[in-house]
Amino acid sequence: MYKILVAECKQEISTFNPVETQYEDFSINRGEELFSAHRGIESEIGGAIEVFSERDDLELLPLWGARANSSGSLAQAGFDRLVTEFEQSLIAAKAGADAFYFSMHGAMGCTEELDPEGFLLQVARRILGPQIPIMISLDLHGILTQRMLDNCDALTIYHTYPHVDLASTGERAARLLLRMLDEDLKPTIARVVVPVLVRGDELKTETGVYGESIRRAQQLEQSGSALSAGMIIGNPFTDVPELCSQAIVVTNDDAEAAEEVALEMAEDFWGKRARMQAPLIAIDEAISAAKELRGTAIFADAADATSSGASGDSNSLLAALMEAQYEGKVLLPLVDPPAVQCAIEVGLGRCATFSLGGALDPRFSPIELEAKVAMLATGPYFFESWGNVQDAGDTAVLQAGSFTIVVTTRPVYLFDRSLFLAHGRDPRQFDLVVVKSPHCQERFFVEWAAENFNVDAPGSTSANLKSLGHTICQRPMYPLDDDVVFEPVVQHFPA
Ligand SMILES: [Zn+2]
Repeated sequence: MYKILVAECKQEISTFNPVETQYEDFSINRGEELFSAHRGIESEIGGAIEVFSERDDLELLPLWGARANSSGSLAQAGFDRLVTEFEQSLIAAKAGADAFYFSMHGAMGCTEELDPEGFLLQVARRILGPQIPIMISLDLHGILTQRMLDNCDALTIYHTYPHVDLASTGERAARLLLRMLDEDLKPTIARVVVPVLVRGDELKTETGVYGESIRRAQQLEQSGSALSAGMIIGNPFTDVPELCSQAIVVTNDDAEAAEEVALEMAEDFWGKRARMQAPLIAIDEAISAAKELRGTAIFADAADATSSGASGDSNSLLAALMEAQYEGKVLLPLVDPPAVQCAIEVGLGRCATFSLGGALDPRFSPIELEAKVAMLATGPYFFESWGNVQDAGDTAVLQAGSFTIVVTTRPVYLFDRSLFLAHGRDPRQFDLVVVKSPHCQERFFVEWAAENFNVDAPGSTSANLKSLGHTICQRPMYPLDDDVVFEPVVQHFPA
């Protein structure tokens, strides 16, 4: 009988979003709650549970889990509290443990601790000792640090963007962990850091050039020549010392083979760096083109992508469309807690002047707008991407002439249509829809929309990476600096 411990800590932040994440922004699951939150859903732990449940010689111990939507840096006090909770749950459960699976995102960042996942893994290693295998899973946007690699035995990494393999990444982690127990594998990890940050449509793994790196990694895993492999691209908005792209290859006790492939993957990725940048269109050009368009125009606003860690309160496209006297029907989301409160006070069906946007990020100046409160709502709604729920808090739909603005209290993920549909607005019925997401996804928008414009708007998650002002990450870094030279260095874990 193997006793396997399971925990989770996931968030992705943008250092450039001034709204700090607080402890209260996390959904915390203790003990069994962790499995009830994940069973049967598209998540890493959901996938791991499926694999573990195929066996009857396992004792599973869900410890603790913390998940928060993307936002600004996590306040240090909040992180300290998460650490204490995790630590206590691990100490209470560690007796007789054979292995530990920790589901992480990898792109957390605190106001003080800039490697939170590394810190958590160090805590885990200290409590469990050197013999208990620690398996982690990561988003390919994670920042995998030296300290994380020093304190885990193996890892699995997402192989899709947009992410549709959360559960299968957990399944891969669980299978590998079981193999490590059953077959006494000795995972050895090779990594090669590539000083590159990437963005843009070429990152879509099905259609873009990044998919070639991923298919190489998948082929390594499927052929059995690697236990696990991936190409991690980091989250360019998490400005931490070890932000980078990196090739990761895990083999069974064959450091040489791991090294060879990691080098090959890293060099191949470096060669494609220029293609993996985002061509953006100026807002006024996009509006002129949209005016001529028949069918729905999508304005993908990556700069205010709540899923990448932006505040969601950008009104820059609203302002530009008003300024340009765009006459079509516009649908756009906005995070603005005071405006929602104002709408509640005004009441359903009534009109008032609202101050919209810039409530959180001083980059944006509020716009005064006469609008009617067309809908008031609250509570969780179904999230079409992953089948779980999102909760935007109190929400108001405001109607200002031809503009329909879905105003939420909390930031929620906006890369699909869920928020709009949950509030009675079908994007297909509009002439222009603002999608605050790094990419406009085929299945939700591109398949039916007339055209997608990747607009160059300001914001804390702009794909115009040079505009952000990185001060902490290692330099030189492409494309932040000119004349970046790549001299591949292989690191091995364990050393
Ligand atoms: Zn991601």
